Amino acid sequence: MSMPSNAFMTYLIVEREGVFTECVKAIQMAKLLGYQVATNTTVYKETDMDEIEQMFDFLSHLGVDGHTISPGYEYDAAKKDMVKRLNKKPEDFFLTRELTREKFTRIEEWGQKYTLFGSPIYLEFLAGKRDLHCTAWAIPTRNVAGWKAPCYLMTDGHYDTYDEMLEKVDWDQYGVFDGEARDPRCENCMTHCGYEPTPSLGIDKQPGDTWKLIRYNFGPKPVRVADASHVDAYNGVTNGKGHLTGTAEAVAPQADEVARKLEQREFAAASAAENCGGNSSCDR
Ligand code: SF4
Repeated sequence: MSMPSNAFMTYLIVEREGVFTECVKAIQMAKLLGYQVATNTTVYKETDMDEIEQMFDFLSHLGVDGHTISPGYEYDAAKKDMVKRLNKKPEDFFLTRELTREKFTRIEEWGQKYTLFGSPIYLEFLAGKRDLHCTAWAIPTRNVAGWKAPCYLMTDGHYDTYDEMLEKVDWDQYGVFDGEARDPRCENCMTHCGYEPTPSLGIDKQPGDTWKLIRYNFGPKPVRVADASHVDAYNGVTNGKGHLTGTAEAVAPQADEVARKLEQREFAAASAAENCGGNSSCDR
């Protein structure tokens, strides 16, 4: 289940009021029925990481079994969508590599507190402690057009079989390593579809990695959060625009209305002052 944040930010990001509440109910129902539940969170420039930590407390308290978390970077399709649909500048919304490292400074600590579905080595990568090669071919995307390459974020071609894709794509052209973007479109990408499989495959291995992976897979899991009363998870608001929440169409009329009312008040105050001309009876 996709959980961008607590209620308010969720409504803004998914542009629909009530989604957070529905998600929480769905989680509770799924757990009652005995299902495993995992959540996915994408972090953007405006994401408040303290709030994400609170959300994990809340989700852990609900009994959610684990979480994936990934930085949101400006891949082509999302960038075009931002500009066309929301009239937002991509650089105001998506993360650069530098910003990703800043946002994920505490990710290793969170790996101890919550069941994150990301190896400790990928978490070190997100925190900026090591470099990894992109191995997007290990988490491939298959859709109606075929096997999509190089990854689910970018589309340079489709292939009939996985073997054909492996063979025909020049994988050395993609990813970032030693600070050098092999493809400019990859420059800010640190997403799990590209970099999570790398340590699992033993690529870019460092001493101690095997032990970290064994402990991550077979060691004790973080304990469920017992009390989430400190979390203000239902911090959503309504602007009466339903599914338009957070979009320019929803916000602009409100802003215009507020500006109009302020102007009226200023005008009324100025007129009153002029009419009174310093007469103290106007104070009544
Ligand atoms: S770095 Fe890898 S996963 Fe990221 S956009 Fe480039 S090819 Fe795709």
